[in-house]
Amino acid sequence: MILYTVTGKAGNEGYLDISKSGDLTGKNIYVNLTNKCPCNCVFCLRQTKKMLEGNSLWLREGEPDVETVLDLFGQYDLSIINEIVFCGFGEPLERLDDICIIIDSLKKQYPDLKVRVNTIGLANLIYEKDVTPILKDRVNTISISLNAPDEKEFLELTRSRFGIRSYEALKEFAVLAKRYVPNVVMTVVEKVMPEEKIEKCRKICEDLGVTLRVREFED
Ligand code: SF4
Repeated sequence: MILYTVTGKAGNEGYLDISKSGDLTGKNIYVNLTNKCPCNCVFCLRQTKKMLEGNSLWLREGEPDVETVLDLFGQYDLSIINEIVFCGFGEPLERLDDICIIIDSLKKQYPDLKVRVNTIGLANLIYEKDVTPILKDRVNTISISLNAPDEKEFLELTRSRFGIRSYEALKEFAVLAKRYVPNVVMTVVEKVMPEEKIEKCRKICEDLGVTLRVREFED
């Protein structure tokens, strides 16, 4: 499943292929481009065999190419939707160049199209350079999973292939992205994280000058 909407129900049944999503007015369209990720989070749905076998977000046929994604988008009127969100079952910025081509093409037709990227915030480590300037005029919102109040816990949870430097890199990515992206948000999940840790994360976000969004827990 490459383009989908979310119904609000938890789990696989909460994702609806765009072709089965009915009237798209005011909805978010999620774009699922890759299974790749620099992390291996302990809580990631990719960890469970059942999810890998049964989940419609796992790209069994491999990554869709840009043409396939644009052809799919071409079947729908994007002037009525809320925003498109690069998200899915991997780290979308693993396909940064392709994301840019897709956004540029869509924005030619829909200049006011709102674009969000949900990310683990490690793109500058993946590409070994500051890639945030590429986001300018392309991405309206970047939503970074903060996951933890310190570097040690972050690494324990995400098992990032970049090791202990990941947390600092993520925070730096948020600050650098602020220069080019109007809305930079960090997220943690309520209930998964105790209140005192959420407060620490709030303070970190205040210091970085970004917004903390406490996401609802979905079982
Ligand atoms: S960053 Fe996201 S996709 Fe990657 S392992 Fe963690 S939860 Fe899964």
